[in-house]
Amino acid sequence: MSKKVILVSIDGMRPDGVLQCGNPYVETLKKEWGYTFNARTCFPSVTLPCHTSLFHSVPPERHGTTTNTYMPQVRPIEGLFELLKHNKKVNCMFYGWEELRDVSRPGSLKHAVYLNALAHEDTDRKLTEYALEYIREKSPDFVFLYMVETDEKGGHATGWMSEGYLNCISTALDCVKKVAEECPDYDIIVTADHGGHDRSHGSDLPEDMTIPQFYRCEGVTPGTDLGEISLLDVAPTIADLFGLEPVEEWEGKSILKK
Ligand SMILES: [Zn+2]
Repeated sequence: MSKKVILVSIDGMRPDGVLQCGNPYVETLKKEWGYTFNARTCFPSVTLPCHTSLFHSVPPERHGTTTNTYMPQVRPIEGLFELLKHNKKVNCMFYGWEELRDVSRPGSLKHAVYLNALAHEDTDRKLTEYALEYIREKSPDFVFLYMVETDEKGGHATGWMSEGYLNCISTALDCVKKVAEECPDYDIIVTADHGGHDRSHGSDLPEDMTIPQFYRCEGVTPGTDLGEISLLDVAPTIADLFGLEPVEEWEGKSILKK
C-alpha cells in the first residue's frame, strides 16, 4: 500500500454540480478513478461539523461540534491527524477558512498555510500552488487541501447550481487535475463536505446531504461506481492506506478492497 496521501475537500460541491460544470477532467475522474455521485454526509450539513466528522469518523452528535463554532469534545476521540502523528507521519494542511484550524489538535501538523478566502482572490488556486510547492520540497506523508470558494464565492454568493457556482467547481477540479498530474506517487481522495440548495445548506434535504467523492488509490478499481459510501468512511480509508488500524471509536469503514 502507498505511504503518502493527499485529501482534497471542495466545500459545498454537489454531485450534479460536478456533472454540469463542463470541466473535461470529470470524464477522467469517472474513467481513471473510483467515484461516487451518491455518498452521504452528516447532519447538520454544515462545514465545521462535517469536517470534524470527516477527521473523527463519528457524526456531529458524537463529537459535539454541531455548528461552525468549535466545541471541545466531552469524550475525546483521536482524529486522523493525531493517529498519523502518533505513527510518525508528517502532516500538513492548506486551507482558506480559519475555523478549520480546529480539525486537528495542536502538535499534529508540521506545516500549515491559511489564506483568508474573503480577503484574497483566487485562493483555491493559490492554496493548491502552496501545497504543490511544499510537496515538491518536503514530500510530506499526509496533505489536506481545503478549497472554500465553491461554497463561499459560488453557492452562498450566487446560488447552488448557478453559473458562478459551476465555474467555482470547474476551477477546483482544475486544481485537482494539477495535483493529480504533479503528484503521481500520492494516493488522492477528493470529497465535498456537503451540498446546498438556493443560497444555503445545513438541512437534511438530499441536495444538502448528497456528496461526490473520487478515489485514486490502491484498493479502489478505476472506473468503479462506489455508490452510497459515507463521509465517515474517509478517515478509516486513509488509515488503511497507511497500513494503520482505525481508532476504536471510529464509526466509518475503509472502502478499500483487500
Ligand atoms: Zn462547507
